[in-house]
Amino acid sequence: MELLKQKILKDGVVKAGNVLKVDSFLNHQMDVALFTEIGKEFYNRFKDCNVTKILTIEASGIGIACVTAQSFNNIPVVFAKKSKTKNISDDVYTSRVVSFTHGNETDVVVSKSYLNEGDRVLIIDDFLANGSALEGLISIVNQSGATLVGAGIVIEKGFQPGGDLIRSRGIRVESLAIIDSMSDTSLTFRD
Ligand code: 5GP
Repeated sequence: MELLKQKILKDGVVKAGNVLKVDSFLNHQMDVALFTEIGKEFYNRFKDCNVTKILTIEASGIGIACVTAQSFNNIPVVFAKKSKTKNISDDVYTSRVVSFTHGNETDVVVSKSYLNEGDRVLIIDDFLANGSALEGLISIVNQSGATLVGAGIVIEKGFQPGGDLIRSRGIRVESLAIIDSMSDTSLTFRD
């Protein structure tokens, strides 16, 4: 998606540890006009999949997921919550996610009330790096018995293994910008 790539080149800042900081338009301040275009692009890619629900993970996925849901005729958005309690109850689906940016492990939970076998789920997230967040969300969809139609990712770091690993299992992953390499002085995209 050309508009997104231009925005990354203009405003993205490469930080230590292979972290791309895009706080000015995605992860802190949010460029809603850009989000709207991102939502339309995800719709174009998944419009034939009869999506009934969008699943994302707090916090940064939520804004993108909500704007995307508007393109899908306002289908519901469910976000996986990062659980702080040790006792996880029976009425939630749960999985463990390793945070790429913080390095710690968190249990994420989704209430069984909001995802079930009748659903056709599109997962949306801001970044794909090693794939732990996406794996966690896929596991939750599988636990619920719902059908996973695929995942829509805003920025995939293609030089990290998550995207290729998950695609190799036959799961459809559509990323709007795939970064092939990045350093302080240059950033390149996969075509
Ligand atoms: P993964 O689980 O695929 O290793 O990492 C994905 C999650 O880590 C995303 O939900 C995102 O919050 C965060 N993340 C991974 N890489 C980056 C990055 O380069 N920049 C930012 N801002 N977040 C990232």
